[in-house]
Amino acid sequence: MSVVHVKNLKKNYQKHEVIKGIDFELMDKKCIALLGANGAGKTTTLQMLSGLMKPTNGEILFSGSREGDDFRHLIGYLPQHPVFYDWMTGREFLEYAGKLSGLSKKDSKKRTQELLELVGIEEAKNRRIGKYSGGMKQRLGIAQAIIHRPKLVILDEPVSALDPFGRREVLELMGRLKKETAILFSTHILNDAEEVCDEILFLHNGRLVESGTMEQLRDKHQQAKIDLEFK
Ligand code: ATP
Repeated sequence: MSVVHVKNLKKNYQKHEVIKGIDFELMDKKCIALLGANGAGKTTTLQMLSGLMKPTNGEILFSGSREGDDFRHLIGYLPQHPVFYDWMTGREFLEYAGKLSGLSKKDSKKRTQELLELVGIEEAKNRRIGKYSGGMKQRLGIAQAIIHRPKLVILDEPVSALDPFGRREVLELMGRLKKETAILFSTHILNDAEEVCDEILFLHNGRLVESGTMEQLRDKHQQAKIDLEFK
């Protein structure tokens, strides 16, 4: 089942067109990686999907919703530079996030405990966030993003700033998350995309220049090489 269908999405900053017509569809419990260099337009695309920014043109259709509906409750979003309150413990931070998302005190505590286990920081739940490693902070950020059980979780460069150990833990967590929700995440590293994603979209200068499964992309690349040899 489709979770979101994006049609001819465009964004201008003043007169400068930075997203030039993007189309894709993301299915339930699948992962799409948006791959591109700095400035390709990844953050702008993800911010439009998260509801933080209005597209200049095009449609973002969530399954079961109509154009113009408020779809933010269907989405969990982890920005590229998330803000944490370093003086809070991980548990306090998630309980607070739960209450902000509308859960009762009791439900927020219950959901917090579930998430601490899911993201693997149960043992550190009473430690201040300021003492967490980069990987632990990202996993806490993912827990916060899914506290309201969204249908789609959007992660903006969740592993780019991490050391190899932190990167591994976050990628493994994304693999587990995929069993429950669709994931859209951005990266500039092909190996990260390949590891957890079913489909890769290559964004260059605001356009999707290539898309498909890793196998399809390899086949295309192979075919292009053969075509060149016979020219
Ligand atoms: P990075 O990996 O560096 O975050 P990105 O792929 O996420 O890059 P965006 O941040 O979406 O790319 O930027 C796309 C283009 O839009 C870039 O040319 C950038 O300079 C420009 N841009 C981004 N935000 C603004 C803004 N608020 N006003 C004007 N131009 C902007």
